[in-house]
Amino acid sequence: MKLHTGHYYWPSEMPPVPQYPTLTEELKCEVLIVGGGIGGALSAHLLAEQGVDTILVERGQIAGGSSLASTGLLQYASDKTLTSCINTFGEEPAVHFYRLSQQALETLKQISAELKEAERLTERSSVYLASSEQDAQKLKEEFETLQRFGFPAEWWTPETINEKFPFQYPGAIYTPGDAELNPFAFIHGILCRVKEQGVRVFEHSPVHGHEQADGGRIRWHCGEGSVSAKHVIWATGYETQQFKKESGATLTASYAIVTEQVNKEQIWYENSLIWETARPYLYMRTTRDGRIIAGGLDEPLPPDGLQEGREIHQSKMLLEELHRLFPEYQSLSCEYAWGAVFGETRDGLPYIGPHPDFPGVYFLEGYGGNGTVCNTIAAEMIVDTLTGTPRKDMAMFSLTRTTRPNPK
Ligand SMILES: Cc1cc2nc3c(=O)[nH]c(=O)nc-3n(C[C@H](O)[C@H](O)[C@H](O)COP(=O)(O)OP(=O)(O)OC[C@H]3O[C@@H](n4cnc5c(N)ncnc54)[C@H](O)[C@@H]3O)c2cc1C
Repeated sequence: MKLHTGHYYWPSEMPPVPQYPTLTEELKCEVLIVGGGIGGALSAHLLAEQGVDTILVERGQIAGGSSLASTGLLQYASDKTLTSCINTFGEEPAVHFYRLSQQALETLKQISAELKEAERLTERSSVYLASSEQDAQKLKEEFETLQRFGFPAEWWTPETINEKFPFQYPGAIYTPGDAELNPFAFIHGILCRVKEQGVRVFEHSPVHGHEQADGGRIRWHCGEGSVSAKHVIWATGYETQQFKKESGATLTASYAIVTEQVNKEQIWYENSLIWETARPYLYMRTTRDGRIIAGGLDEPLPPDGLQEGREIHQSKMLLEELHRLFPEYQSLSCEYAWGAVFGETRDGLPYIGPHPDFPGVYFLEGYGGNGTVCNTIAAEMIVDTLTGTPRKDMAMFSLTRTTRPNPK
């Protein structure tokens, strides 16, 4: 599947990009991780911390999948509001999911603290704008729900918004403690560190088959070599949809631009992460080197996949939106633009855990706009389970779920 197209920004922020060997031998390990994106990297980190003998194999380049297309916003709030989660799943599972997201954000901050400066995340506040009067009522209700369960949030009136930003909106939720990162640098940072802890990392080594091996192990053919492993974490992102019979996810096309440099330390209020209730939505953030990232304008994925060049059209629209919201930046042009496949599950929760058709394999599918946070929840649950602390709440995210999730 073609995952993205265009001109990407993240690698330009961290030359030279580390390289990893190709697998040519027959190896053995406790846990094999398939996929070198954020999900694979986080799993490798958590396994390395527990001293588990681990190998990670990536089909192409490390961090070259959907993680390269991510705009790197990290928030405890999901695309599906807590109020909406409560309506769909009931209070206890919904609040549990939001608490897991909050904890996952803290885990990401802890991991970041161990990385080199250029690879670390930056803490940011978020501003979630109500795109219409009707949405403002719903967003106010969401604010009250967040408050009721102790999640950090403030309600902003149109006057408060207008004091801080040049635009008019009928209401917003302000949340402190979120973050932004360069996903490409973050993944390479993690993998360089886990290599020092003994994890073996290979790129250009696709898994292309498997067979039963001795001692209940499975031998996975990867590139020109193979890995015999007790357990497998399957972290192949949206491509996992291609081989399971119940996909449970919808794939769309999403777009992002990065502007030229603004030459200002504070580009807007607290350089916060800005998003809105309208769908398809528009969101914005800033970068360390003083640029603006704008993303969104999702549209259905054509049956023959992502259209090359479509990002040029969408980038003009994203830039117009940016100029409309920030007239001060009218003269800013766009230096990078890309389009990418984007996946969301039908009920808004990630898919995590085993599948009856694939014994010994744990799937990690942290889909949605908050994919990094969901991938962190998934990596923590799977690694806990593999290292002797079974996570009963993993059933909430079951790949074969048909009923209301139950965190007990
Ligand atoms: C435009 C856009 C913006 C986004 N913005 C955000 C954001 O702001 N915040 C956020 O949290 N999320 C965001 N996301 C979502 C985020 O990008 C994904 O949730 C995340 O990158 C998925 O990571 P992953 O590791 O699961 O998948 P990937 O990064 O795709 O990694 C999977 C890897 O598996 C490899 N692979 C596949 N098959 C095989 C095989 N057979 N053998 C070996 N390797 C294989 C692939 O090559 C790939 O590198 C965004 C997504 C898009 C498209």
